[in-house]
Amino acid sequence: MTLIRCVRSFSFAVVVAAVVCFGADRGCALVDLDRLSERQIVDVKELITRLSPFITAREQEGTLPTLTFESLYARLGKKDRTILSVFRHLPAKKIGVKIPFRGMATGGKGMILVKGQIVKAKDRPEAKEIAPQYLPIIVYDYYQVMMGDMEKSIGRRLYVESGYRSSAHQLYLFIFYLKNHGYSIRETVKYVALPGYSEHGDPRHQAIDFINEKGINGEDDPKEFEDLPEYRWLVKNAGKYGFELSYPKDSKDGLTYEPWHWRFTKNIP
Ligand SMILES: [Zn+2]
Repeated sequence: MTLIRCVRSFSFAVVVAAVVCFGADRGCALVDLDRLSERQIVDVKELITRLSPFITAREQEGTLPTLTFESLYARLGKKDRTILSVFRHLPAKKIGVKIPFRGMATGGKGMILVKGQIVKAKDRPEAKEIAPQYLPIIVYDYYQVMMGDMEKSIGRRLYVESGYRSSAHQLYLFIFYLKNHGYSIRETVKYVALPGYSEHGDPRHQAIDFINEKGINGEDDPKEFEDLPEYRWLVKNAGKYGFELSYPKDSKDGLTYEPWHWRFTKNIP
């Protein structure tokens, strides 16, 4: 069991200050990286419940990917803001994060809005529209050319299920998905990047999560995406358009395999 201890070093200053107020008033509470305490789990659940209407509204208006920390914090009380800060400033290296820090993503300037993408709901006949996404213009242009060629080649294309994502949006996702990983921070970082570490928030390495027209995105089983002709086409051809697979199978760094997540590698001016 590893704990983020209440040490008085500079790098821990924010965490320590925040951890003190996290949960009940028991002085210097510790955050167990392997599992939050029962009290902390309740606090996280309540925070998600309080944020839910706001997040849904931003989702519906298509502005969730450009959420700022200011607007995320603005509607919350001190306790909830403290919880957000704990997760915003987690010591990534100590937790075992191997991917590089990309920088905090604070907005969506210079981005193109991608909307009107219709795909089938997986395993169901009805179609659904993907929530509006944002991409740097150059990335969008290369993506469109690549998809044009994919269609000519195999008669199929892929859609942008997730493009640019601000660090505030990433922070919300990290806290939201704790529940899927037993409220273990150490487990959750294997699947959800910490704010500042996601390629979805770095226009120089902008990542796209793809989904196909049948709604297959690999979420339930990466193999479903890996088996697609669209995926095989990407493996052969994406490099010509500046895209590469970020998290391949059997990575030496122990990173989770994500066949749907491709980053743009050309330098963006
Ligand atoms: Zn991704």
